Amino acid sequence: MLKVSNLHSGYGKTQVLDGIDFEVNKGEIVTLIGANGAGKTTTLKTLCGVIPTMSGKIEFEGRDMTGSSTYDMVETGISMIPEGRQLFPNFTVRDNLIMGSFKRTARPIVRQKMDEVLQIFPRVKERLNQLAGSLSGGEQQMVAIARGMMADPKLLMFDEPSLGLSPILVQQMFDIVRDITNHGVTVLLVEQNVYRTLRLADRGYVLENGAIVISGTGEELLGNAHIKKAYLGH
Ligand code: ATP
Repeated sequence: MLKVSNLHSGYGKTQVLDGIDFEVNKGEIVTLIGANGAGKTTTLKTLCGVIPTMSGKIEFEGRDMTGSSTYDMVETGISMIPEGRQLFPNFTVRDNLIMGSFKRTARPIVRQKMDEVLQIFPRVKERLNQLAGSLSGGEQQMVAIARGMMADPKLLMFDEPSLGLSPILVQQMFDIVRDITNHGVTVLLVEQNVYRTLRLADRGYVLENGAIVISGTGEELLGNAHIKKAYLGH
């Protein structure tokens, strides 16, 4: 579904990604793991057109999407749930969700899409008329994910969705990621919580200093000596 080849990108003249290659197949949960500053967020931002590609190729469903705008990426089916939620706090939850459905094909089916999305997020449904800024951190994270789903994505990318959540909510968040794939959405997940993420993911890639150094199934990576030492603390 997504094929990234020899991708270089960064900020201004500073190169962060040093030619990375990876793939996400339809229906999979794929994770990118790596230490702070490894380039995980940079990868997601490049994939959704927030920062430009310096060189390399991004293909989605066989189409060359390299250099496409964020708008085009969303239209094609790639959406991102950014770190830190980024909701509009003074708008209701309902309005925040509606703003997620700006994609051309999603607009005519806003109501239908909202009903579908709210089935996955019953807590969000109870809060539709409340201002987004008045929700708890965990509830806001659910709204951010629900808003991402309103764009009717084929591939949903998550940047640190469990950040700042209590342990119970972290578990809920991982359950929701699994649930989303059951609704036909493919997932690319960036997470600090390496153990849980590798247990959930079909496959993963380890990013260090802007390069992919290890790849494998979730199970293989959980058993990998370097990963155990560097990311799992044993
Ligand atoms: P973290 O878990 O800390 O978010 P990450 O793997 O997502 O880590 P990135 O955010 O992709 O890392 O950052 C990779 C490198 O790019 C870091 O060295 C960082 O300082 C640099 N960087 C990130 N954002 C910018 C920016 N806006 N301008 C310049 N450099 C940046």
